[in-house]
Amino acid sequence: MRLLFLDQTGKSGGAELCLLDIAAGYQNSCLVGLFEDGDFRQRLEQRKIPVQVLAEKAIAVRKSSGAIAGLLSVSKLVPLINRVATLSRQYDAIYANTQKALVVGAIVSSISRRPLIYHLHDILSPAHFSKTNRRLAVLMANRAKLVIANSQASRAAFIEAGGNPELVEVVYNGFEPEQYLAEIDTNELRSLLELQGRFVVGHFSRLSPWKGQHVLIEALQHCDSTVSAIFVGDALFGEQEYVQQLQQQVDRLNLHDRVKFLGFRDDVIPLMKLCDVVAHTSIAAEPFGRVIVESMLCGKPTIAAKAGAAIELIDSGVTGWLTTPNEPKELATAIEHCRQSQTEVSKIATTAQQQARQKFQLTETNAQIQHYLQSILT
Ligand code: UDP
Repeated sequence: MRLLFLDQTGKSGGAELCLLDIAAGYQNSCLVGLFEDGDFRQRLEQRKIPVQVLAEKAIAVRKSSGAIAGLLSVSKLVPLINRVATLSRQYDAIYANTQKALVVGAIVSSISRRPLIYHLHDILSPAHFSKTNRRLAVLMANRAKLVIANSQASRAAFIEAGGNPELVEVVYNGFEPEQYLAEIDTNELRSLLELQGRFVVGHFSRLSPWKGQHVLIEALQHCDSTVSAIFVGDALFGEQEYVQQLQQQVDRLNLHDRVKFLGFRDDVIPLMKLCDVVAHTSIAAEPFGRVIVESMLCGKPTIAAKAGAAIELIDSGVTGWLTTPNEPKELATAIEHCRQSQTEVSKIATTAQQQARQKFQLTETNAQIQHYLQSILT
């Protein structure tokens, strides 16, 4: 099976890390076409997955863009579409991994008569996308032979937005549990980050208003003074204004000695292992939330905002805790519970780790995807 994967970004977000693991299974018979250059290309090259940067300039359509911006950027798409159409003739199918890739993939699919597959990593709701972008996504996705949704939540939102239910299969992101299970001595890292003696809450996400880093900062004031937070991740998609707001919030609340911004890191696993708790604070529904599964695999108590796929991933009180989105006091209560009842909490973390090992195996994810691809391509 020869696959032409398309992804609009060169940055390594959750959708790209998921694609990395899927494309690795087609190393000798695929190409990953990116619409911009970045560290994601390097990660693909390190894994020996063929990759090409196809667009000379990144295509600037924001999630909130209206019709005019959309049409203007469509006119800029023509050279890209021509390149992808020529390439696609060497492949059996086009596999679009992001929304702009879907638009290009759908157009190319009708030119080169190659079937289109869409991996849906988004919640197509008003909280995340403008009406125009939702309509466009559904219109294009309904031309696909198969839509792979990363959770029941993203499937439901797709159907709600007008997507054809018959096209959609749900496949969760997969992980290699062994990578997360190894015992690591985190003392050195703790002292390097000056976190000795602190109760550390970790937040691992790109910095973006809907990821709700501000909710955790707000929650800190209601926690014991020994509680610190580390924020791992950067503003990947031009959300610098939010970064400034977060820094101002830390100034305003006088929390400098309890908050650290570590930027984008490649060593997520050791950083997670040094945390006492991992908090996930999205204020809008999360389409999947790789970080939630990664935290469970690391054996860490996980607190997540009760919306979207987080509800599928965590059974509150059994494998973690779910709190109301955008409610800092509730989050603080959950953090304090984890700090004060460590024996009970570590039992919950162990149950979560065992369940996550079974439920989110990469081999299983890849087998499911291969099965669905085969069923439409043969
Ligand atoms: N991540 C990373 N370095 C960072 C912050 C995050 O490698 O500094 C990874 C994180 O481990 C996770 C992914 O980025 O695998 C984020 O995926 P998630 O589904 O949580 O969020 P998304 O970016 O898709 O909204």
